[in-house]
Amino acid sequence: MLIFHKTEDLKKQLLRERQTGKKLGFVPTMGALHDGHMELIKASRKEHDKTICSIFVNPTQFNDPTDFEKYPQTLQQDIKKLETMQCSILFLPSVEEMYPSGTALLEQFPIGSLETILEGKYRPGHFQGVCQIVDHLLTIVEPDTLYLGQKDYQQCMVLHRLLELRTYKQNTKIKIVPTLREQDGLAMSSRNIRLDTESRKTASQIYRCLLNMKSWYGKLELEEIKIKVQEDLTHHGFRVDYAEIADALTLQPIKKYDPEQHAVALIAAFINDVRLIDNLVLTDTTTDSKVSN
Ligand code: AMP
Repeated sequence: MLIFHKTEDLKKQLLRERQTGKKLGFVPTMGALHDGHMELIKASRKEHDKTICSIFVNPTQFNDPTDFEKYPQTLQQDIKKLETMQCSILFLPSVEEMYPSGTALLEQFPIGSLETILEGKYRPGHFQGVCQIVDHLLTIVEPDTLYLGQKDYQQCMVLHRLLELRTYKQNTKIKIVPTLREQDGLAMSSRNIRLDTESRKTASQIYRCLLNMKSWYGKLELEEIKIKVQEDLTHHGFRVDYAEIADALTLQPIKKYDPEQHAVALIAAFINDVRLIDNLVLTDTTTDSKVSN
């Protein structure tokens, strides 16, 4: 695997690849890589000649400085995992490399209400930061396909919007990879490393609640479902930011059940000081519901 720290070096290499007709798949990450990330690498490898992964803990998308400071970093293990997965190229830029003029005056992207609902409401500025870094990375890498995880559902919608806004990126398409889960249903996440033994056990309740939301959808009033789930999570020691049922395409909250509407359940909650997010499409019949009890 080739490792680049400098944008210009990476661009030269990618130009060579493109000139020889290679198709490029791109997996942007913040490191502390786990098997969920590896699903994205696998998907890209299957469909492209070369897979480029980036590891960059982007300061502009952290609204909470403590979260940024505590973000796990496991670089040597990450490199080993990527090599095992036969990732072709790793881009490892510094903050100065990505933001040579600092971060104070970066572009703001018109992403509409996605910025102020759900994650946007609880993490002000977060999605502007995501757009800033992904826009920059896409300009450098110019991939044929950008691989994203469904685990960050709203981020996928935001980045769809970003691609719509950037006409010069019409050659890049997005592929969304299903969420990889631990055996007890907990969505794999870099932040899971920060859970102590007790919190780790409790954390799987989020997926159980999502499965409940799915089984109650269309049977109970939506407001009742949300209240039951909030109470359930609170009872298990979570501090809930939201437990919402939203339109799967716009992410606007659904007020009334409509069997024709494509819907998704989304949860964000703290267990101790670790914030976890997860989601489940409610109108998809393929989800395994073994964990529900
Ligand atoms: P992150 O390093 O957390 O910024 O994530 C990098 C990419 O991996 C994002 O597109 C995430 O949505 C995706 N990802 C994170 N966790 C998972 C998971 N459990 N399953 C599938 N994709 C994931």
